[in-house]
Parts: sequence; structure tokens; C-alpha cells
Amino acid sequence: MGAAGSKLEKALGDSFPEGERYFGLENFGNTCYCNSVLQALYFCVPFRDQLLDYYANNKSLGDEDNLLACLADLFTQISSQKKKTGVIAPKRFVQRLKKQNELFRSYMHQDAHEFLNFLLNEIVDTLEKEAQAAKNDQETSSPAEKTANGPKNAHANGGPKEQLDTWVHKNFQGILTNETRCLRCETVTARDETFFDLSLDIEQNSSITSCLKNFSSTETLNAEDKFFCDKCCSYHFGLTAFTATTIMVAGDHQLSLPITALSTCN
Ligand SMILES: [Zn+2]
Repeated sequence: MGAAGSKLEKALGDSFPEGERYFGLENFGNTCYCNSVLQALYFCVPFRDQLLDYYANNKSLGDEDNLLACLADLFTQISSQKKKTGVIAPKRFVQRLKKQNELFRSYMHQDAHEFLNFLLNEIVDTLEKEAQAAKNDQETSSPAEKTANGPKNAHANGGPKEQLDTWVHKNFQGILTNETRCLRCETVTARDETFFDLSLDIEQNSSITSCLKNFSSTETLNAEDKFFCDKCCSYHFGLTAFTATTIMVAGDHQLSLPITALSTCN
């Protein structure tokens, strides 16, 4: 390492990750909520790689004025820096964010979690619009194919809107399974819901896994929440409900929490 290496490079020495860039983001007046989320997203490597691929495959994005294009541009700038460490001003991204959403226009502190949700939803919206536009282009440019695919198209237009599984979903979407067991007939009813984020009660000095276990623990339904059992065809008191959570992190990693022991009431 040359004499030009930064303090951080010197401190990390040989453990500086190969090909990695550590860049600080300039603050534009209480934009720390935004910078902290951008840093977290940048170091979510599968997300970053997919965003960089997307940008590389869509060269015209440089002229696009949406948050996805601004984010892709920023990440590309950081990853292509010659230096390993430094500071970058996410000016274009912050300007676009303020233009897009009134909430983030002031110089007030904002909620990082709220911003992350907004950003991920914006990216999904843009990807869905692009996929729809590409589909429309394909349909208008090849009318013969449209006729051939007639019944399929009719189904697509007539049926419920099919959710596009974007790389944002692949990275961040999880499935929450809520299971309820009827204490009378033992029938288990399961209901799946997708989510981008979960609200966990954080206990001091505990791990995320431990907090997730608490989240999925058994709960006895009380009289107000009595549950309708399809098998017994009636509402019952004294039921026990429990949730099992399946959380998929970064595509391949799956964390399944076991169903905990049943407790009975009455
Ligand atoms: Zn039942």
C-alpha cells in the first residue's frame, strides 16, 4: 500500500476487502437518515450487485430522472472510484428525493425506516412500470404474436394483477406464516402474508434471532379474539394461536423459526 493510503486503509491493512470501496456520504442538512440507509443498502452486497447490473444493462438510465436511476448512478460512482476510501456527495439523489416527496423536502430530521420503505416501494414501482412498458412495446411491435397469445393475454387483462417478482422482492421480501390451532379439533389454519419489514420488540443485550423467537412465540387467544374454526364451523373460546415466521434474507438464506410448544387454556 502506497503512502497515499487513507487512515482507514492503513488501519485495515491486509484485511481491507478486495475490490471494496468505503466512501462517506456528504450531509446536505439533516440528511443523515438518508445517508445511513444508503450506506446500509450499499453494503447489502446482493442488492448492490443487482442494482449495478441493472444500471450496466440500461445505459439510457443516465438521462432518467427517477430515484432508481439516481441510486444506481450513485452506487456506480462509488464502486468505480479509483481510490479505496473517500467522500462522495449524493447530491443528485437527495435533490431528486426532495422533488419526489414533500416529506423529505425540509431540513428537519426524518425517520430512516420510513425513508427505507419509501425508497424500496419507489424502486419496485419504477421496475414494474418498466416491465409493463416493455410488455406493451412487445405487444404493439408484434401483432401476429399477440393473436397467437390471445387467450393468455385475455387472462392477463381479465384476472387479478400479477405481482412482478423484482430483485427488490428477491432481496428483501419475506413470508410471514400465521398459524392457529383449534384446541377442540386440533386443526391448524395457516395464513401467509408477504412483508418487506417486521416490527420487533428489541430487548437489551439480546440478539436479532432471540428477538425473532419472541416475535414468533405462542399466544393464547382470549375471548375477544376468539377464532372461527372451519372444521368445527363455529367460534371457540380458549384457543391457542402461534405464529411461525419464515424470513428470507438475500435470496438464499432462509431463517425458519420453529413452532413453540402449545399451551392450553380453560
Ligand atoms: Zn376446530
